[in-house]
Amino acid sequence: MLPTKNSNGRKILENVSLKELTTFKVGGRARYFCVAKNLAKVTEAMDFAKKNKLPVFILGCGSNILVSNKGFSGLVVKMDILGVEFVEKAGGKVEIIAGAGENWDDLVRLTVEKNLHGLENLSLIPGSVGAAPVQNIGAYGVEVASVISFVEIFDRKTAEAKILNKEACRFNYRQSIFQTPAGKNFIIVRIGFLLNKSKRKKPFKTDYPDVQEWLKREKISAPTIADIRRGIVEIRTKKLPNLAEVGTAGSFFKNPIISDAQFKKFKVMFPDLPGVAVGKNKVKIFLAWVLDKMCGLKGFSIGKVGLHKNQPLVIVNYGGATAGEIKSFAEKIAIIVKEKTGLAIKREVEYVG
Ligand SMILES: Cc1cc2nc3c(=O)[nH]c(=O)nc-3n(C[C@H](O)[C@H](O)[C@H](O)COP(=O)(O)OP(=O)(O)OC[C@H]3O[C@@H](n4cnc5c(N)ncnc54)[C@H](O)[C@@H]3O)c2cc1C
Repeated sequence: MLPTKNSNGRKILENVSLKELTTFKVGGRARYFCVAKNLAKVTEAMDFAKKNKLPVFILGCGSNILVSNKGFSGLVVKMDILGVEFVEKAGGKVEIIAGAGENWDDLVRLTVEKNLHGLENLSLIPGSVGAAPVQNIGAYGVEVASVISFVEIFDRKTAEAKILNKEACRFNYRQSIFQTPAGKNFIIVRIGFLLNKSKRKKPFKTDYPDVQEWLKREKISAPTIADIRRGIVEIRTKKLPNLAEVGTAGSFFKNPIISDAQFKKFKVMFPDLPGVAVGKNKVKIFLAWVLDKMCGLKGFSIGKVGLHKNQPLVIVNYGGATAGEIKSFAEKIAIIVKEKTGLAIKREVEYVG
């Protein structure tokens, strides 16, 4: 249950534990904490932070962060702005406008049920709608940026609500303006997604090997949108840890993007290394493969922290690990990868506090 009021009925709470509000299930307390259910509450919270000169952290479902055991010394604002609207658009499109506090996968399920095409490959990604543009979530060859039409924000610097179009969001692989120092002032309130009523406008993306194998196994040659979702849910459930059993924030590192020349060099020693062309002379390689086959790290663990047995890119807290232990483990992995392959890998998970 989300804490919303203290015994005096105050909406800004003190010393709230963040541990259970993250999927890693570690971390200390927020000095101040509140839940924002609408734009007015966001404004109030920001006034409080300004008056008290507090740093602010905007929290979704805590599935891409690692909170320090010391906690966060400022104000944590848990986004809980709800609501989903459907607006008919020209050209067989529908715009979905969803509040930042909506659950991501509930939104995907709803769009699939309504036969609206565009989000199905992003099924079962944990988290809130509001966090989706922050690292431009992606899976199975689709990034959320491909269907975002606008992002409504509250700008902490000017204390105004604004609409950013897709270009202004500066999306890239696991990147956006919201991760830059200027973009950290933007609190995402609502997002517009432009989806297609018919798959003919844009064919389903089924070329990822896991998806291809699943379709073959199920003997499906002309998948429906519901098939795609079912396949991705099954693949992810098998491959990824169960959040009810272990703590994790999913992929701890980003997949490296390397030059064509570097990719060719790796291929001499590791002919099976998979890669996807991304932009001019650049190839995205799969770090899970690198960790497993090039570094021999699949299943590697130290104490209560380890790499997940089915997906080595995922760092798992088997219970009772501290944030410090998880951090040291991740640093160790980065050092081993550097020593064995020369690759400098980058973190996807954000450290808080
Ligand atoms: C098992 C597992 C599997 C995963 N698989 C994938 C995957 O396939 N692809 C993928 O891309 N990610 C994946 N992730 C990562 C994660 O699900 C996404 O990054 C997700 O979007 C995080 O949502 P959240 O609400 O939990 O954000 P949080 O972890 O709460 O926050 C993440 C960042 O977003 C900011 N933020 C959150 N809400 C707002 C807002 N309203 N306004 C401004 N900033 C905000 C936070 O300040 C923080 O910087 C996975 C995670 C897990 C645990």
